[in-house]
Amino acid sequence: MSSQAWINLAYLAAAMLFIVAFKLMSGPRTAVRGNYLGAAGMAIALLAACFERPVLETIAARGGWPLALVAVAAAIGAAIGATMALKYPMTGMPQMVALLNGFGGAASTFVAGAELWNKTGDALAVDQAGGLTAVATRAAADLAPWTQFGIATALTGLIGAVTFWGSLVAFAKLEELPRFKQAWTNPNRHWINLGLALATLALIAGVCLNPSSNLLFWALVIVGSGLGCTLTLPIGGADMPVVICLLNSYSGLAAAAAGFVIDNSVLVIAGSLVGASGLILTAIMCQAMNRSLVGVLFGGLGTTTAANADDVYAGKIKSASAEEIAMVLENASRVVIVPGYGLAVAQAQHAVRELANALEKRGCTVEYAIHPVAGRMPGHMNVLLAEADIPYEKLREMDDINPTFPEADVAIVIGANDVVNPAARTDPKSPIAGMPILDVDKAKTVVVVKRSLSPGFAGIPNPLFAADNTLMYFADGKKAILDLTAALQQG
Ligand code: NDP
Repeated sequence: MSSQAWINLAYLAAAMLFIVAFKLMSGPRTAVRGNYLGAAGMAIALLAACFERPVLETIAARGGWPLALVAVAAAIGAAIGATMALKYPMTGMPQMVALLNGFGGAASTFVAGAELWNKTGDALAVDQAGGLTAVATRAAADLAPWTQFGIATALTGLIGAVTFWGSLVAFAKLEELPRFKQAWTNPNRHWINLGLALATLALIAGVCLNPSSNLLFWALVIVGSGLGCTLTLPIGGADMPVVICLLNSYSGLAAAAAGFVIDNSVLVIAGSLVGASGLILTAIMCQAMNRSLVGVLFGGLGTTTAANADDVYAGKIKSASAEEIAMVLENASRVVIVPGYGLAVAQAQHAVRELANALEKRGCTVEYAIHPVAGRMPGHMNVLLAEADIPYEKLREMDDINPTFPEADVAIVIGANDVVNPAARTDPKSPIAGMPILDVDKAKTVVVVKRSLSPGFAGIPNPLFAADNTLMYFADGKKAILDLTAALQQG
């Protein structure tokens, strides 16, 4: 069997591992195994790529140092990746995913740019003094217009640039950096986006017609970079989860296009898998959040205004002590616990489990209401509660539990805010208008645990805190739940 056949076989094995990994990642019990298989597939693909003919030719011509450079770069990248994965807290996962998407997009753009340069530009050579000089070994090759190479190069440059800059803006928003907290609402933004979109179309046509032009390619990358920023800057609040899924999908599409640029089948397969799964997740998120993809893509069509916090809260907040809340819980026969981002910050999952045990010992039924975007990543709350061995059967999806809130004696909201904000139902001008929420306000009594009246990710006040049936318990999530459990056990 030829060496190319072995390489293709290795790519096939890697592709199969990716597909099985995706299947395993769809269930919480098998997800970790799926992750390992995906990583193994990537290792096989990387190793096989080192035996591709252009790599071997380069080594034959220049010795082992180009490969050594790649190995050093890969080692540095792996060290940074491992450190980030170990150090980043669970609550920072979306930021990390945003960065990784962005780096994927940038890598694809550089692959396309390098291959274009390789096919058309001057070569570098080591001169007698040991320095690198440009030598005109190749006149700009006359690449034919509208070939696979030209089209794929243009698409990789554009999608990669949009992904990189869009992801950096998403990172800044998720990190809640001061300048990025508020969505960009310039009334001319749609015109700016239209202008940039038309410019990218013209430049794509330019690159496809004249694929030998490095200049046109990098002009497309620059305009695409601008578009990545202007498309992501207006997005905020409830639309961020959708945008992260979309950028994830873009990074896959950029990689798949880069696969066509360098004729690498495993890159096409891996990129298509990421692109397609990201698109499916985007569609699921849009449906769950009652958002149109076009609305999210073009950064909030129409204008929204959040209510004033003083108008919502003034004189209406009822704060309670642990003992008072324990007395309410003593008489409850059904309690629904609603976890949110603050539960993850406080790491209160084990304390929650203890509270649930104490309630169940008294004959009370305890369930957990899970909103699809509670926390900062899809499935965040499921992972967190699984960590505390809370049985999976007790976790109920939003559509399933919402009709049952009127029969709940107490709903305990722990560190959740936007996902229980009734303004989404009642205020058409609210930035989260139309987003499906957990209808906790319909429970007989609502206990909200948080540290202050600060807003959640969407930055808007929550009328739930001022409702007649709501008791606020201001404290850190973990401490509050431990105090409530102690008060309940003493009662
Ligand atoms: P929110 O971000 O709306 O609210 C979290 C609340 O937790 C805050 O109001 C905060 O109030 C409280 N909190 C923070 N730390 C603590 C603590 N130590 N103890 C107790 N409370 C604490 O969270 P939700 O889960 O309700 O909503 C998620 C939001 O994130 C949505 O807007 C969603 O669109 C967005 N998002 C979701 C993503 C996803 O994929 N799930 C991705 C990106 C964004 P205080 O400071 O007063 O304590």
